Amino acid sequence: MIIPDAKGGRGAESRRSQEGSPASFARRGGAASPFQMASVPKRPPHLCGELLFRDTRVGIIGGTGLESALGALAEGRSHELSTPFGRPSGPIVTGEVEGVPVALLARHGPGHLLNPSQVPYRANIFAMKMLGVTHLLATGAVGSLREKIRPGELLIPDQVIDRTFRRATTFFDDLAVHVELASPFCPTLRAALIEVGKKSRVPVHRDGTYLAMEGPQFSTRAESELHRAWGADLVGMTAMPEAKLAREAELCYAMVALVTDYDCWRPPRAAIEQQELLREIIGNLERASANAIALIRKTLRKLAATARQPCRCQSALTLGIWSDRERISQETRDRLGPLLARH
Ligand SMILES: [Zn+2]
Repeated sequence: MIIPDAKGGRGAESRRSQEGSPASFARRGGAASPFQMASVPKRPPHLCGELLFRDTRVGIIGGTGLESALGALAEGRSHELSTPFGRPSGPIVTGEVEGVPVALLARHGPGHLLNPSQVPYRANIFAMKMLGVTHLLATGAVGSLREKIRPGELLIPDQVIDRTFRRATTFFDDLAVHVELASPFCPTLRAALIEVGKKSRVPVHRDGTYLAMEGPQFSTRAESELHRAWGADLVGMTAMPEAKLAREAELCYAMVALVTDYDCWRPPRAAIEQQELLREIIGNLERASANAIALIRKTLRKLAATARQPCRCQSALTLGIWSDRERISQETRDRLGPLLARH
């Protein structure tokens, strides 16, 4: 089932790979895996002569509720990577799902120890780039700000309002890069998710504005009302800077939002006890997680069977680098090899 317009209410493992720098990874290439790491892609995805999805490598970043489900999605090789931005949230497992090479990462790390403000977003996206990932599918638990977006349902956000304030938001501290972000989520990946969602038994809302708050906390009632007045449909804590960093890394990125509750704008049902409410939220999250895994599996199948579309996300830096390229230091080029090699 697909919900046509969520905005209607607006207005209103396994073997371990060795660790090291990107350069050392590049030197060590040659592992028998679809995920051979290299700092310089041999064949940039957007320049492929044959634009087929078999060249697609999909990274999946699992948020709250999906960590354990990720393990069930695929078994494979576990990579403990280190990047110029530190270590990712945890090991990244590479394998194959529905005929598509995938790289799986739990956003909050083993045991869910990293809160949304502490997630190493830059390291996560950079590590995916090191592994040759071309597309990223992320999931995230959210609160609904609209009556018609019900707990347990899924939503594919098309817009974001960034209210985070203590996270690193760019890979490019040493040069001026302004990527275009009018549509922060990849239209091609979104279209695939939406198409698959039409046949889903659970409602999959086809768009909605995600408000990313810093937290880690839940909204006050005044904030919840403010976010609604701004036109936001969902509130969560992780889509930013993840979506923006994915764009800087020239990856197609889309999110499946798992609706767990109605945030706090909606008066709670009378006489519901806190414990009962919590059980209800956990139940909604489990239901939404299972539905999200099913949606992702079917989307991967569709990607594997469909001719690959060239996508402008994958050339975001062509116009995004404002600095004089001749003046970009070799040190910066070496450090950011996977991002700057083509530019
Ligand atoms: Zn794209």
